[in-house]
Amino acid sequence: MSLPRIKHYLINEKYEDPGIVIEIESLGKYLLFDVGNINRLERDLLRKITHVFISHTHLDHFIGFDTLLRNKLGKPHTVEVFGISPLSQNIHCRLQGYTWNLVDFEPQLIFRIKEVDGDIFKIYNFDIKKKFQRELVKIENIDTDIIYEDKFFRVRFAVLDHKIKVLGYSFEYKQRLKLIPERLKEFNLEGKDIGKLKEFLENEKNINNSFVINGKSYTYSFLKERVSYTIPGYKISYITDVIYSEKNKEKILKLIKNSDVLYCEAVFLDKDKEQAKKVCHLTSKQTGEIAKLGNVKKLIIFHISRRYGKNYEKVLKEVREIFPETY
Ligand SMILES: [Zn+2]
Ligand SMILES: [Zn+2]
Repeated sequence: MSLPRIKHYLINEKYEDPGIVIEIESLGKYLLFDVGNINRLERDLLRKITHVFISHTHLDHFIGFDTLLRNKLGKPHTVEVFGISPLSQNIHCRLQGYTWNLVDFEPQLIFRIKEVDGDIFKIYNFDIKKKFQRELVKIENIDTDIIYEDKFFRVRFAVLDHKIKVLGYSFEYKQRLKLIPERLKEFNLEGKDIGKLKEFLENEKNINNSFVINGKSYTYSFLKERVSYTIPGYKISYITDVIYSEKNKEKILKLIKNSDVLYCEAVFLDKDKEQAKKVCHLTSKQTGEIAKLGNVKKLIIFHISRRYGKNYEKVLKEVREIFPETY
């Protein structure tokens, strides 16, 4: 009943450019959260990246976009990129900073950008075959906090304040239902009917319905208990570059609630909280408090200010005073 292999880690040292990777090898999905300096990542991994979630386009979160672009060239591929306006404008400028006259024989590479812009999502394509011109392909009303979803996982977002708007993210690997083959035999279920039963049990709305097997009717709860088990989901949240305010805190807590792992910035020591307020970042104690109130299992801090040099571990120590499970 093991979890799928989800590998997640910080791209850089805690006092260097922020960003994390989530690898789900079994699905061929490789996610990047922020693209600051990503030179440490292997070319092999960069070529496999399928989804990029960007908090905002301050330099330390975005300068690696060119590195990603360079490693993607030569591969037919669509890279999905998510973020908040003016992300598509920033990407447009980056891509138009180069000359693309020799791309006719290049395999088709598309950057597909989904950008939060007020209360709408704007979706743009940047296609190498069109010299990476920006092309608006779709507009959707935002009536959800889900920015990406497929059969296996979803990513939620919250718009947060950093004197500019930034996005916080929460990756949720969905819980899965597995059938127990030996138990299915008791019901003489075969072929297509097994698929139908699985579909029935996967939909929790069926809780008051029943399922008929060979003329006999069984309740949802009975069958669920008897022939299946659930593999729990897994939640990883990523919060960076936010001012400490009641409004931000409320939105962050709603997003990160009960995360298995929270990656959160902790830029300053508590004694430098005035500075933290000025530059719109969190202190050790504020980060610890957020992890505690959010009931997360484990906290990993990063984006520690370079002002502490080799003493950056002091920040870690301070966070641990509030939230011991910090790394
Ligand atoms: Zn930053
Ligand atoms: Zn920033």
